[in-house]
Amino acid sequence: MNKVPMEINVDTVRDIRLHHSKELADKMIKAHHDSLIAQRKEAEKEFNKILFFKKKYLNICVSCGKREVEDGNIRCKKCAEAQKKSKKNLYESRKILNICIYCGKKKPKKGKLFCSKCAKSRIKYKKVDKSD
Ligand SMILES: [Zn+2]
Ligand SMILES: [Zn+2]
Repeated sequence: MNKVPMEINVDTVRDIRLHHSKELADKMIKAHHDSLIAQRKEAEKEFNKILFFKKKYLNICVSCGKREVEDGNIRCKKCAEAQKKSKKNLYESRKILNICIYCGKKKPKKGKLFCSKCAKSRIKYKKVDKSD
């Protein structure tokens, strides 16, 4: 991965200021700065993507990056368990608060655990995910 500098080089800033009016220099420096941020974000995204796939294809857990996973899984047993648990805790607390357990925003339909919007997407989700 190409390293993208965190900040604009001071020499670059001085150079811009030297050759342009203050107003234009400010604009140029800001544009330069914004483009650096955008580049860095892009590079990070790319890096994370590569890391994710690398782990996936090496059969290494994408969460801890240490333990091997069984075929078809992306997380090791320990991490999968931890994820399940935290999800369960989240659902439980949402149940108590009487909000939709999926989005945590809307009130659930009467007698249901999720709102009408989530109920709809849940049907779609169930079709693809058979592990549940
Ligand atoms: Zn793991
Ligand atoms: Zn919902």
